[in-house]
Amino acid sequence: MFLREYNKDIRFVKGVGPVVTKILSRLGIKTVSDLLLHFPRSYEDRRHIDKLADALTKSSINAVVRVIAQDSIGWGRKKTLKVYVEDSSARAALVCFGRNYLSSVLIPGRSFFVSGKFAYKFGEIQSTSFEVEKCSTSLSDFARIVPIYPLTEGLTQNLIRRIVRNAFLSIDKRIENEIPSYLAVKYSFPGKYETLRKIHFPEALEDIEKARRALAYEELFYFQLVILRKRIKRIVVRTSRKTIPFSLKKKLLKRLPFKLTRDQLKVLAEVEHDLFSEHSMMRMLQGDVGCGKTLVAFISALSVIEAGEQAALMVPTELLARQHAENAALLLEPLGVRIAILTGSISGRERKYLLSSLKNGDIELVIGTHALFSSDVEYNNLGYVIVDEQHRFGVMQRVALTEKGSSPDLLLMTATPIPRTLSLTAFGDLDISWIREMPKGRRKIITHLAREGNEDKVYRRIDEELDKKHQAYFVYPLIEESEVLSLKDAESMYKYLKEEVFKKRNIALIHSRIPEPEKSKVMERFISGSIDILVSTSVVEVGVDVPNATCMVIEHAERFGLSALHQLRGRVGRGKDQSFAFLIYGNKLTEDGIKRLKVIMETTDGFKISEEDLKIRGPGEVLGVKQSGFLKFKAADIVNDADILYSARKDAENILNSDPGFINPENRVIARVLTEAPPFDDTFLQGG
Ligand code: ADP
Ligand code: MG
Repeated sequence: MFLREYNKDIRFVKGVGPVVTKILSRLGIKTVSDLLLHFPRSYEDRRHIDKLADALTKSSINAVVRVIAQDSIGWGRKKTLKVYVEDSSARAALVCFGRNYLSSVLIPGRSFFVSGKFAYKFGEIQSTSFEVEKCSTSLSDFARIVPIYPLTEGLTQNLIRRIVRNAFLSIDKRIENEIPSYLAVKYSFPGKYETLRKIHFPEALEDIEKARRALAYEELFYFQLVILRKRIKRIVVRTSRKTIPFSLKKKLLKRLPFKLTRDQLKVLAEVEHDLFSEHSMMRMLQGDVGCGKTLVAFISALSVIEAGEQAALMVPTELLARQHAENAALLLEPLGVRIAILTGSISGRERKYLLSSLKNGDIELVIGTHALFSSDVEYNNLGYVIVDEQHRFGVMQRVALTEKGSSPDLLLMTATPIPRTLSLTAFGDLDISWIREMPKGRRKIITHLAREGNEDKVYRRIDEELDKKHQAYFVYPLIEESEVLSLKDAESMYKYLKEEVFKKRNIALIHSRIPEPEKSKVMERFISGSIDILVSTSVVEVGVDVPNATCMVIEHAERFGLSALHQLRGRVGRGKDQSFAFLIYGNKLTEDGIKRLKVIMETTDGFKISEEDLKIRGPGEVLGVKQSGFLKFKAADIVNDADILYSARKDAENILNSDPGFINPENRVIARVLTEAPPFDDTFLQGG
């Protein structure tokens, strides 16, 4: 969003002195362009003139009055000006708290527009919160639709309106439209000048939304151009991968006791296409828990390994690293693939040995936590980086990953499906693959909701499942008792369940503060079936795979986010038996808490859940980058402007395909904008 021609200093605007300059800079306004792109946060329709008497029935009015007399209330320094006004219908008092200077403005006999909230008090119609303006002012703030701007200390609506007006009067009507004109025609967008006029001085309410959509389009269009151009640039030369016989892959597929689903085959083909193309891969694989993403990743890694390169699989927790390494050992070691695990808790001689084997290429597949990318880790020939549960790492960390090899291929996997709007923005530089289909024979998880107080019923139901030799998870929002929050915690509940409720059962506790070796031992015992109930916090959320566990109990379910609930529920339903999730909710439900529980009860479709999550929390929270200002657009709102986003994406793609150098005279404006006013901070984007 830009007005390239108006990056003149704000000081040149009439009415802006050093003080105002300073105040405006707090809002990030430094140039004329910044000022004109400081959009109103709302509008007030003051086109209709009310009678003063209407003040008794309306919450706020907008009237033309004549000043009758001035008076004051209080004494000394606390003296406050009080002004009596009237129109043909009634008489009223304006109490000017902190605005005694109005005594030289509201002079008896003169007429004014007044707008504000009035109430009947002390036997008269009174207002303490009002705005006034002389009737003679041109371009008056009265009798029109008035913009309400975001303010900062020292700035009033009147002041900023006046400055915006002066700035606007100084710009040229023929100011350049920054989207190609054929696109403006296609969507019937007004020109830039008209657009700005409609935003700051609208004549009709419909105008405002039209103008805002034009600006939103412009913003998203350039955003798409920038990220799509990044994608085109990633060209690499592959020497080793040219002709491999895929013998490892064939062997593995033969050994699998099942067939890959159609979606798995489709995604595998997409990934392999990238791995053997002349662009380095930057792909996101989305698919619900248990749909078979990890398997696809392993299979695709085999071809890179067969070509003599190394592959690395990064996961967010140590627990998950171990589980993946065990799976990989079962699947891949029989094929002769050399596998190792590297996490933060591996140290000393073991670590030294590992690092040297990575460096000399003895290890072909390494699985680990972010320790894989510590500064002292060197690879022999890292060709492929796979990141599992990428949502746990945050968007910003992407950049660090590929620095260990020479543009290694990158596959990001996530079981928290990303709404399409975010796929096209936050991850707009990535190619995206989806697995929507589940392997055959999976049963739908049955979800029950229970109110706090009815736990006994749930516990009895769990006992029946345990009688069938099944296992259960119990999840709590806290590790230990909190003095502030009156919530159940894992430690106390572990004791209670063990000593009072399930005396005959084997129960274990796991959470992030339990030392790593003990954690793995507990997990191993749970996986082998010697533990019946695992009490935990949301550490079991990611990746853990125990098909015999058929019950998931989440207490204080209202405290968990939607994606956490979805992930937790996904821990069960991984075997052939019917599985259950019990969501027990506390008495203190917030509105969002109710919304989340409703969504999670209604659907198990991860994609739907993610769309709802986005609506409830907004993009910043969903991506975990709320503070960074990332994806903050001035006019666009990626949740509500999805249609504009899709159009902008398509148009940008078309242009980059047909005229990547913006040579066509109709597209030249794009080249000008991109060089003169690089529009976005794109440091979050990968590669380049
Ligand atoms: P994800 O990583 O998507 O959560 P995994 O790759 O871990 O899923 O697979 C989950 C489980 O399903 C594993 O036990 C895996 O062996 C099994 N699995 C994967 N693909 C299939 C398939 N096509 N048919 C049957 N089972 C499968
Ligand atoms: Mg997985």
